[in-house]
Amino acid sequence: MSDFNFKEFLPDLVDIRHRLHEMPEIGLSEVKTSDFIAAQLERWGYEITRGLASTGIVATLRAGNSNRAIGFRADFDALPMQEETGLPYASRHAGAMHACGHDGHTSMLLGAAWALSRDKSFSGTVHLIFQPAEENFGGAKLMLEDGLLERFPCDQIFALHNWPGIPSGTFAARAGPVAASIDVVTITVKGKGGHGAQPEDTVDPVVVGSSIVMALQSIVSRSVSPHQPSVVTVGSFLSGSASNIIPDTAALEISMRAMNPKVREEIRERVAQVATYQAKSYNAEVALDWQVGYPATINDAEAVRAAKSTITQHFGEDAFVELDLPLMGSEDFSFLLEKVPGAYVLIGNGDSSGLHTTTYDFNDDILERGAMYFYHLAKDRLA
Ligand SMILES: [Zn+2]
Ligand SMILES: [Zn+2]
Repeated sequence: MSDFNFKEFLPDLVDIRHRLHEMPEIGLSEVKTSDFIAAQLERWGYEITRGLASTGIVATLRAGNSNRAIGFRADFDALPMQEETGLPYASRHAGAMHACGHDGHTSMLLGAAWALSRDKSFSGTVHLIFQPAEENFGGAKLMLEDGLLERFPCDQIFALHNWPGIPSGTFAARAGPVAASIDVVTITVKGKGGHGAQPEDTVDPVVVGSSIVMALQSIVSRSVSPHQPSVVTVGSFLSGSASNIIPDTAALEISMRAMNPKVREEIRERVAQVATYQAKSYNAEVALDWQVGYPATINDAEAVRAAKSTITQHFGEDAFVELDLPLMGSEDFSFLLEKVPGAYVLIGNGDSSGLHTTTYDFNDDILERGAMYFYHLAKDRLA
């Protein structure tokens, strides 16, 4: 059995969480955060590898002689927004905030790191993956490109995300799709500007853009099966400067979400097709600029069973609820789940402000449970 008292360590862990919260850094600039995490792990005797995706860290702990390996991932980047919580440990970096609780995710995994370093009664290897840039650049993908899984092979991989609205400390998950894919494209409509009084001499990009926006509405309703959840949103449409000038260009920013990789592909193709041919019908041209996309997050059924079994065994039957519907948001842990079977599990943040709001804060009451989840999962899977 464990020869440690987590309750004695908990005040230190809360302090770690608050320190992280105070120094939020945006994706791929998490230099102080990365140094701080590495410093904790060094104290506890981990083999530490740094520099994956620039600020990413892998901390490894081995015990026994089994060649099985398990991976746990926590993200540590913040969001570009101004915190308005008024907390004593609120952000000290203007315009940056831990509004998605990645400070909490990292702290829960550090709590597990502490516990595992004091109780190595397992046989195999535990890789703790501390990942940058979940919110913007797909840090998980960048870590993979730096050889994450070749250098640190894992048989299964797990991650936690806190979730406001789910009771504090209750876990939720489902097998199969758990979060949507996302793709973003900027479409620039290239028309021909001129005087608002002589439209016949112009190719009006406002009209072309409007036509594209309307035509895009038929993709989800008429191209994709009603059984396949998907969304196409035109979130931005910018053009023109005055009522009597027809501008040269218009720019549309579009996000596309789907649960099924085939539908994802279909939607991307249809958006490109609709924009191109709508524009052609007006004698205009379009340029499409695709930005980083995340695949759908698809949980492995066996990994979800394993997570559920650990949760109910150690925290009680009520501690796990089946997630009835996948989330329409997205998550770059999906890149790892494309390579290794695993589970993305939610942990209730209780009745808090929503994620990505200026008044959000991670709930310190769930730190211990989140840490103990990873700790028990390592011991159960590497028994
Ligand atoms: Zn987020
Ligand atoms: Zn997040």
